[in-house]
Amino acid sequence: MTDLKNQILDEIIIEWVRNPGQSKDEFHRLKNNVYKNYDVEKPFASIEFISRYNELVKNWTIIANPEFQKLIRKRWVRSLSGVTVISLLTKFWWCPGKCVYCPTFEWLPKSYIPNEPAVQRAELNEFDPILQIHNRLRALEVTGHKIEKNDIRIIGGTWSVYPKAYQEDFIKATYDAFNTYDEMKENIEETDLGSERFASFKLKEWYKLKLSDSLEEAKKLNETSRCRIIWIAIETRPDWINPEEIARLRRYGVTRVEIWYQSTFDEINELNKRWHGNKESTYATKLLKNAWIKVVAHMMPNLLGSTPEKDKESLARVFDDQAFRPDELKIYPMVVTDKSELTEIWRNGWFQPYDDETLIDLTAELEAMIPEYMRLNRTYRDIPASEILAGSHVSNLRQIVEAKLKKKWIHLVDIRHREIKDKINIAANATMNIFDYEASDWKEFFMTFEDKEDRTIFSLLRLRLPFTPPASLDAQLPPQWGGLEGELYSLLPELKWAALIREIHTFWDQLSIWEAGSTFGQHLGFGKKLIEKAEEIAIENGYKKMAVIAGVWVRWYYEKRWYKLEWEYMVKYLT
Ligand code: SF4
Repeated sequence: MTDLKNQILDEIIIEWVRNPGQSKDEFHRLKNNVYKNYDVEKPFASIEFISRYNELVKNWTIIANPEFQKLIRKRWVRSLSGVTVISLLTKFWWCPGKCVYCPTFEWLPKSYIPNEPAVQRAELNEFDPILQIHNRLRALEVTGHKIEKNDIRIIGGTWSVYPKAYQEDFIKATYDAFNTYDEMKENIEETDLGSERFASFKLKEWYKLKLSDSLEEAKKLNETSRCRIIWIAIETRPDWINPEEIARLRRYGVTRVEIWYQSTFDEINELNKRWHGNKESTYATKLLKNAWIKVVAHMMPNLLGSTPEKDKESLARVFDDQAFRPDELKIYPMVVTDKSELTEIWRNGWFQPYDDETLIDLTAELEAMIPEYMRLNRTYRDIPASEILAGSHVSNLRQIVEAKLKKKWIHLVDIRHREIKDKINIAANATMNIFDYEASDWKEFFMTFEDKEDRTIFSLLRLRLPFTPPASLDAQLPPQWGGLEGELYSLLPELKWAALIREIHTFWDQLSIWEAGSTFGQHLGFGKKLIEKAEEIAIENGYKKMAVIAGVWVRWYYEKRWYKLEWEYMVKYLT
């Protein structure tokens, strides 16, 4: 039967790839016709098509066809931003915050609740990073996703308060997991994979023998591993960001930090027991940006003491006041869940969440404010409706809001809205666009390759420059850079007086590291041209040095462009 099944699958796949440009309906028609010819009663699963397609590409019967991959891949949007996002949850730990809305379940990290999909996956894998990654990679691979370039999101309360030994082990295990994935597949029986405790135990016994001796070794191995880490994100409180913490994050390879502003009204943060204000939020933002790290800020409308008008004012300040201006944003409206202080406040009738109509109108106004250099990642936290005691259950809030804005002819300009995703803009229409703005006292250049007609973004680069470049690289730091900022540069001397490339990102479907460019996005040379332009701007502004934070795997890319590794940064001396 296997031979016959392969023959049927081959017939469908080969027929389809030889006649490109067909619709999804035509694919279904083709399948049904072939099934009928062979009296197939039960249609084959996508996984079977994926596995057979990979086989045909491998043995050169057909050449790789991105359109076909897209057709058979499950939830293909997962890798449309050019990388595969993998969320990892840490174990239960405390948090110095006492935020009224934050639930506490003693077996979960602070602020997480049972039944959230990421929580369930982590629980099944005993919060072990290697098991979480191996099982996730396996699930993604069998459903047709590329897993060579990975964006790791470590979630679970306040990362900075976890014991340093736990942090180090967790990060090392994360690299080890990617480095050992292929070997694990060869050594562990298919039936042993999965998330059951027994399978996990077996896997654990196996991988114990495979771990590297140190974090440095694990990172080095990842530079040549098939499955590589492009970015790592953690989440933490702004008042726990300091130079020492940043230096530690850089050693771990962290490239993005999610910090919670929640509100830009100090009195509202105080009422909600955040225990930090704007002073800490803006300081953390600046230190992170100055160390190249990308800043994702969280805002929370509907906090105690707020109103829709105040929420708008609060968010407007994030854009209007240059001391904030993060790179990305998440907007999570407050909801009431069990086991938080807010649960009692709500039960006593002292808090009433906005109704759906108010929330939709408010979110529409908030989204319309977001400037072109910022990416709005989410507008709703993925909490199962069954866990929400009060507050909106509209999980597709973003779609509703955006449909509403479209009807009013309001065009959104934030990055996520303009990423190429699965659109078919032609690369030949791309033109370079440079927008500069002040952020956390320094100058930022937001550079893109975008479609000159509809402004769809193919590729972007963020460049950060101090206002007054020094005459020589040996110059002393000016007095106003004393204190904590001076400390930052003494811990990260590679960055002193350097212009910083803080992000380079080419969108569209993920290509393997060795694949040539498609018509649309990755591997077409956009990144190279943006880097060259960024170097030109830095030189014009008097800079003699450029530093790039490069995820472990991309170092080779910069080495080709005369950058050299100085601790965790790729550095080039500009002439
Ligand atoms: S800082 Fe975050 S994790 Fe800590 S209590 Fe507040 S919401 Fe919860």
